Amino acid sequence: MSCLIDTLLGDITRVAADAIVNAANCSLLGGGGVDGAIHAAAGPGLLAECRTLNGCETGQAKLTRGYDLPARYVIHTPGPIWRGGVCREAELLASCYRSCMALAGRYGCKSVAFPSISTGVYRFPLEQAAPIAVATVRDCLAAGSCVEHVTFVCFSQPVKDAYDRALGAC
Ligand code: ADP
Repeated sequence: MSCLIDTLLGDITRVAADAIVNAANCSLLGGGGVDGAIHAAAGPGLLAECRTLNGCETGQAKLTRGYDLPARYVIHTPGPIWRGGVCREAELLASCYRSCMALAGRYGCKSVAFPSISTGVYRFPLEQAAPIAVATVRDCLAAGSCVEHVTFVCFSQPVKDAYDRALGAC
């Protein structure tokens, strides 16, 4: 099976992947950053479905339909809030990517687009987060996921540079 990981500078709400990932909070009831952008673009049906999910733990993931988005599904995952690196942040961030890849596989998604989870309001250092994201997705693909194409959708050039460096380095 051919697999591809790439990066894209842009807005994840415009990406027509089988699933896009939302860097959510544990309530799953919307927030700022990419979460707010996804809810705004998807329309009120997304929030209505999220209300039925009873939230989500950090490092886990839950799936909804994509509503008005070009993506078929949204996979919501609350990333860890950075607390200096001593509260299992790295492990929890890897768990986000693993949980999303597992859920995408279970729903038959061939293409998945990720934002840079936890590196905005949650303040996980980008230079540490990008290699964790890349290595975890690579491990999932190597373990035989049915996902074939993963895109890291980067909202600014420094974010894209960090993911490109991580892709080149490991
Ligand atoms: P977190 O709370 O997990 O840190 P944020 O939404 O604050 O989540 O930030 C995560 C990343 O998503 C940041 O790099 C931010 O710039 C980026 N981002 C914000 N809006 C979008 C968007 N529409 N598409 C892709 N990435 C986005």
